[in-house]
Amino acid sequence: MSPTQDFDLKERVRSAVDIADVIGATLELLPQGRNLVARCPWHNDRRPSMTINQERQTWKCWPCDIGGDVFSFVMKRDGTDFPTAIRTLAELAGIPVEEYTRGKKTQPGSPDDRATLLSAIKLASDSYFEHLQSNEPDARIARDYLAARGISDESRKHFRIGFSPDSWSYAVDLLKSQQFSGEVAHACGVASPKRSGDGYVDMFRGRLMFPIQDLQGRPIALGGRVIPAIAERHGDRAGGKYINGRETMLFRKSQQLYGLDLARDAIRRSGEVMVMEGYTDVVASRQAGIETAVAVLGTALGEQHVKILRRFAERVILVLDGDAAGQNRADEVLELFISADIDLRVMTLPDGSDPADFVAAHGREAFEKSAREAPDALDHKLMRLTDGVDVERDTHAVASAVDKMLKIAAKAPDGLRIDQLLNRMSKRFEFKVERLEQRLAVLRKETKRPTFRKPARPAIQNQSRAATSHVAPHTDPNAALQESADGVDDSPIASSDTMLPQPHLTPPSEHAAAAPVTLKPMRGLERDLFETLIENPELANMAVEAIDVQWLEGMAAKMLLTAYQDLELEGHSLDADSILLLVENDALKNQIVTLQERVEERSGKLPESAEDRYAAIVTRFREREMSDEQNRQIEQLASASMPEDDEDALLKAIVEKARLQQRIRNES
Ligand code: ATP
Ligand code: MN
Repeated sequence: MSPTQDFDLKERVRSAVDIADVIGATLELLPQGRNLVARCPWHNDRRPSMTINQERQTWKCWPCDIGGDVFSFVMKRDGTDFPTAIRTLAELAGIPVEEYTRGKKTQPGSPDDRATLLSAIKLASDSYFEHLQSNEPDARIARDYLAARGISDESRKHFRIGFSPDSWSYAVDLLKSQQFSGEVAHACGVASPKRSGDGYVDMFRGRLMFPIQDLQGRPIALGGRVIPAIAERHGDRAGGKYINGRETMLFRKSQQLYGLDLARDAIRRSGEVMVMEGYTDVVASRQAGIETAVAVLGTALGEQHVKILRRFAERVILVLDGDAAGQNRADEVLELFISADIDLRVMTLPDGSDPADFVAAHGREAFEKSAREAPDALDHKLMRLTDGVDVERDTHAVASAVDKMLKIAAKAPDGLRIDQLLNRMSKRFEFKVERLEQRLAVLRKETKRPTFRKPARPAIQNQSRAATSHVAPHTDPNAALQESADGVDDSPIASSDTMLPQPHLTPPSEHAAAAPVTLKPMRGLERDLFETLIENPELANMAVEAIDVQWLEGMAAKMLLTAYQDLELEGHSLDADSILLLVENDALKNQIVTLQERVEERSGKLPESAEDRYAAIVTRFREREMSDEQNRQIEQLASASMPEDDEDALLKAIVEKARLQQRIRNES
């Protein structure tokens, strides 16, 4: 069952039952103000101290500091897990859930177990990498090929480029030797089922291997390029130039970008990202000093990619190959421009060259100059349409160009981008904006507009949401350990249900369940942040872009921000209701309800607006992050004996940061 179906089912069940009926079935409910109250069965409750909020469909017992939604009530009441609770409630509501099988925990070693797949593909990827530096004759051929393409040893290591031996069963056997089945080899994307008979064969044979890594640097798929001298042996059966990783539980090409994990810091620093078409373009660019290069993976740049990139960059420069295929992307790019809220430029390379060729021939500076001059996607399309057209005389060509653009616009929802488009077209073609608007309205009626375009569903499994999220939860495993190890546990009760099993905090290689961690209540800046987001969900849309999970310290806060990010990726709204529905962890749900209560209690009592408070919070996070960074750098300066050049660079960075901090303070 996909996560979205999962979410939908939860929503159906929740909206089909009333929490008051469910709690009222076992506890006596009394009205109190706008709420209902009951005597809490989990402590010696003389006065009814459990409140039930019917409007929000939540419950809370303050003395116990427990609470949540209807699902967590049933879990607590029956002492069951989430899937059992949802089944109980679905039965009550008459909703069939035969297909709801998430209750089956995946077993380590099974092809539906993410951790298993991550370990398996890492094993293969590491082995390919090692193999490329071995003394095998074919490995030498592969290295010679790399060298002939001008890819340095440093780049090979940086990108962990490997070589898959020319064999039908290298990876399958390797995985088998470590107890990974053929099914697992298939499910993680390194093997395919045999055409005839049972069993599996390697997908990549005699190829140069490019691991595709998630934002935490873990391989999640592989792409393999033909090596001509090896392919020759197989004649027609050598296969295409590239074999791109199949989509698997770990890998969605509509969301993944090659090299993003390595480029991300540089992208953040410069605020822009260069999106290219191929692995080798990224490698060559980086080698030439262009560190913000990433590549799409055998697909067009789409909305999902942009959503992810927006977390790191304000500007996306799409670098299109100078070949015909690259040039024909103008329509797609315009559609993306209209739908995506980002500064999208299009850089076209001359005469059939790709970024690797271009950098080799003209160098980094020429490339960067060309990037700075790249038109935005709208101008790019306008230029393509009117290339060689005499706008003043050739009325037929102009009319057809206008219609082409308006047809693309007609498919998109109305908005600022459409206004921008019409204004610019009006200037370019000297049409009145009103005329263009009329024509657009006509075209809109003709185009059966899809009512709501849901984004592609991300591969998110509930049990390991954080780890699956393609938006880098960066939940450092050590952070969890610190949180439980720092002694003072100030959570009011530490019963088993505040213990957080933490599959997503475990490094992928470890199958064994990690020790549970206590989820401390949020405090300070982090609590302020989430209260503001609950108060005004509009701000949550900004927060998922503006705030990095790494900035947060508490586990609860990290988990909650990750949940917001997942909600956004799945195209849901970012209100507290949806968050409660997405989150299944009891302790976290309780904290969400607590936040809701606090928000309600002080609503209208705070002097500043939610927007102003949010802005102040973000500023404080940024400052905190920067001074942390400074401290790290100063420490480094004090401790290390580093080469003078590095020392200089570090000092510069520290001074630069301090200036920036000053600016932020002045602005706020
Ligand atoms: P190279 O420089 O090694 O020839 P490239 O990256 O320039 O490689 P392109 O032909 O520009 O290759 O293709 C760009 C991308 O398109 C590749 O990185 C790959 O993801 C995909 N691609 C190219 N050819 C194929 C193919 N035959 N099958 C599947 N995907 C391909
Ligand atoms: Mn290319």
